[in-house]
Amino acid sequence: MSDAQAPDFSKGCAYVRGQYVPIAQASIPITDLGFLHSDATYDVVTVWDGAFFRLDAHLERFARSCQRWRLAPGVDDAQITAILSECVRRSGLRASYVEMLCTRGQTPWGSRDPRQAVNQFYAFAVPFVWLANEQQRATGLHMRISHVQRIPAASVDPTTKNYHWNDMTMGLLDALDDGADTAVLVDDKDHVVEGPGFNVFCVHAGQLITPDQGMLEGITRRTVIEIAQSLGLQVQVRPVSTTEFRAADEAFISSSGGGVLPVTRVDGKNVADGAIGPVSRKLSDTYWAWHQSPAMSLPIAY
Ligand code: PLP
Repeated sequence: MSDAQAPDFSKGCAYVRGQYVPIAQASIPITDLGFLHSDATYDVVTVWDGAFFRLDAHLERFARSCQRWRLAPGVDDAQITAILSECVRRSGLRASYVEMLCTRGQTPWGSRDPRQAVNQFYAFAVPFVWLANEQQRATGLHMRISHVQRIPAASVDPTTKNYHWNDMTMGLLDALDDGADTAVLVDDKDHVVEGPGFNVFCVHAGQLITPDQGMLEGITRRTVIEIAQSLGLQVQVRPVSTTEFRAADEAFISSSGGGVLPVTRVDGKNVADGAIGPVSRKLSDTYWAWHQSPAMSLPIAY
């Protein structure tokens, strides 16, 4: 194939039905229940400086999510690693957002029995996606505490990745309409739980506090807790009321989409003095420093 005909993977590469295709050409059948019923699971791992960060943890969570939702991706960890690496390699991206998905797939025509569906594995790598833009990272996010409750754990297990995101999207739309940058959802007891793509933390009198239930067990949340412990900070994993969150000395979100991202305003009011606090800064700096650890990163052979 001449260069003129070579597919352009520079904007991202997807793995679809056994083929690697440029991201703009990646599609799934419209009758895949992953699309029609949000009947799918997924995980997102990042590539920074040409290396996956904590891929093992993401693979382990993906396997757990698949098991929880009775989905069989038909590929093992080694095969997934090879597919994800190939998506990144073809794209040439050194900083990438890499997603693996398993959808329910299609049932035989006329069947309503999900057990008869043929589950599908998909993957893609695109340029790194930040949860906060450069200016928001510099000054901190403005968060709205949403009136929307996160879907209860008794209905959809939030500890495993799912696409039940209408609550998140409605909360986010309200927040943006109100001039905030993002939203955190609550539970039925007025505790903050999580937001669209992130976990939440606050700092009170030097102690780090993060919710213990009603949310995804984020890999970044786990990393932040490990960092805090390595720095000798006290960590409390327990319910966090909206009142406590508003009164925090510091607040931040954690996500693969940028690590530790400070929140400096909540519902139009400053968090403490409205500046990014020292604990958030230290945790963020250490989060990026940990990307250099060979134990946590897997370099990609481009
Ligand atoms: N909560 C939800 C609902 C998410 O979708 C995500 C990430 O996508 C997170 C929390 C943070 O998880 P992680 O740190 O593994 O990116």
